[in-house]
Amino acid sequence: MAEIHLDSVHKSFGDFTAVRSSTFTIRDGEFFVMLGPSGCGKTTTLRMIAGLELPTSGRILLDGEDVTWNRAAQRDIAFVFQLFALYPHMSARRNINFPLRIAGMPRREIRERTEEVAKLLQITHLLDKSVSGLAAGDRQRVALGRAIVRRAKAFLMDEPLGALDAEFREVMCEELRVLHNRIGATTVYVTHDQLEAMAMADRICVMNHAEVLQIGPPTEVYARPATRFVASFIGSPAMNFLPAEGHLPRGATAVRVNGGAEIAVPATTDALTGEAVLGARPEHIVIGDHGPLRGAVRAVEYMGARQLVTVETPAGALRVRAPNDIRVADGETVALSFLTDRLSVFDGASERSVTRGGADG
Ligand code: ATP
Repeated sequence: MAEIHLDSVHKSFGDFTAVRSSTFTIRDGEFFVMLGPSGCGKTTTLRMIAGLELPTSGRILLDGEDVTWNRAAQRDIAFVFQLFALYPHMSARRNINFPLRIAGMPRREIRERTEEVAKLLQITHLLDKSVSGLAAGDRQRVALGRAIVRRAKAFLMDEPLGALDAEFREVMCEELRVLHNRIGATTVYVTHDQLEAMAMADRICVMNHAEVLQIGPPTEVYARPATRFVASFIGSPAMNFLPAEGHLPRGATAVRVNGGAEIAVPATTDALTGEAVLGARPEHIVIGDHGPLRGAVRAVEYMGARQLVTVETPAGALRVRAPNDIRVADGETVALSFLTDRLSVFDGASERSVTRGGADG
């Protein structure tokens, strides 16, 4: 069990900043997902927590103890590499206990630990079988067993499911999460896949360009994105962004979008001198007979339970996720209304949210 605290942790490679001064705490027992596009600094952050990379400045604390200068081996943190590369000629048992044998642990302890992990993963009956003969799902459990057999204070995983196809990834996400719930060890998990992050995380840390932009539970990051980048990176299809008139006073309750329509929004937390941008998720726009915006239907994509309707309006083209019992035809004029409480307003210049519960709310 471990709480991991980063205190102004900064990493530069020469002139290049890979991680800009970051301060945050990963709670004991939490499944914490670091999410962001390639090159944003996730792996570097993880490697610093593991002790595989030294910060340029700042401190890393493990359960309150400053471990910044401790080597990886002194930290009692397991970095899970290549979760799925098993040794095909070895038994499940020897695959699982490989890290313990490398560490020179006494035989009896190795046997006890291996059996304990196998029981947890419900693969005791497979321990002495060769992994090459096992079903795919059982092979993955063996791989998980090998990852957790060291009783580390925390597990760090860098895109462990990256090489798997989509369907299998979904299954493994579920297995990993179930396993985490059972062993309750702090887990830090790096991915660029927002769906994976949303499905597994207790809290998500969204990064871009070496900076932490927001940390929060998936529901919060989705509903109240702190910046326009977070809003666009999380959610599929992406949030709609509508440029709006600026010079909004603090506490404004409506914005005027291109074409002149006025749309009610949650009261803003800051005054905006420059342009504003209205953010509306596709499911927070309603197609009907009345509403502040009108437009022509340009495309209808049927998605089973829902349909995705693209409407061309004077404020721009908007994508609306509508129930599939609403009948709309290409070219038809429709009115759009908005779920006021669910909307976001961003500062056009800084791209920060000025919606309560967002960056500053
Ligand atoms: P990815 O998913 O592609 O690994 P990431 O978010 O994990 O992306 P990092 O691997 O942390 O990103 O890299 C952040 C930036 O730091 C990248 O631009 C990378 O090229 C740079 N970088 C990482 N390690 C080094 C290094 N040893 N020397 C120089 N630059 C580095």
